[in-house]
Amino acid sequence: MAFDDIRIVLIEPAHPGNIGAVARAMKTMSLSRLVLVRPSSFPSEQADRRAMGAIDLLQRARVVDDLDQAIGDCRLVIGGSARARTFPHSVLDARQCGARLVEETAMGEPAALVFGPERTGLANQDLDRCTYQVLIPANEAFSSLNLASAVQLICYEIFLAAHEPVAPVVLAPAERPSSQAEMEYFYEHLERALDSRGFLDGEMREVTMMKLRRLFGRSRPNSGELKLLRTLMRFIHREGE
Ligand code: SAH
Repeated sequence: MAFDDIRIVLIEPAHPGNIGAVARAMKTMSLSRLVLVRPSSFPSEQADRRAMGAIDLLQRARVVDDLDQAIGDCRLVIGGSARARTFPHSVLDARQCGARLVEETAMGEPAALVFGPERTGLANQDLDRCTYQVLIPANEAFSSLNLASAVQLICYEIFLAAHEPVAPVVLAPAERPSSQAEMEYFYEHLERALDSRGFLDGEMREVTMMKLRRLFGRSRPNSGELKLLRTLMRFIHREGE
């Protein structure tokens, strides 16, 4: 595992100071890849000041327009949120999250940790793109950490896990879970196929798609299995004609 394989993605960070504090938190724990999705102000002097000796991370940070660009090539994407959702995601605590990232990047594949905006947190549609949710256990009555504190804590767990003798997940290429971009392509196909049969009519549309995302996301199909599912959808589509 290389720390460089794990990227930290911030969605719409509102305060440049937080971006700097995140860079500093990452560097103390040996992480270096920062991706910013639609930051409100970047580059920024305030971010540079808060980064202290971690300005190099800010200089190399990637700025993108949407989350898919930040995580499309990742097979493992973990989204941070303090809130348990109405339709629960597979949830890891910070320790399990660190261990999982270290195990699964052992083959040199990229993985991502996604954090939401300070005020509103991670939106459902962004969490839907994640393999797991990470929830840092905290005071039930006050569980939302500052953005950079949340990043610090999880990066610390990655740092500790990286120094443990963990068994890496070694899978042949054909057996590896599909990337986030492949999963997204599949969900689009699934939605079109269900739509064409009138299955998604009505107000349950969004909820149904979310449940299907949870179901398929949890099983983490490899590319051969996704191909089988696509063939199945085409077959069902034809049968109904
Ligand atoms: N007001 C927001 C919190 C935003 S904090 C809300 O109620 O959801 C900014 C980000 O830090 C969050 O989107 C999340 O990614 C991360 N974060 C904060 N506290 C966390 C916790 N206890 N567990 C996991 N992630 C957390």
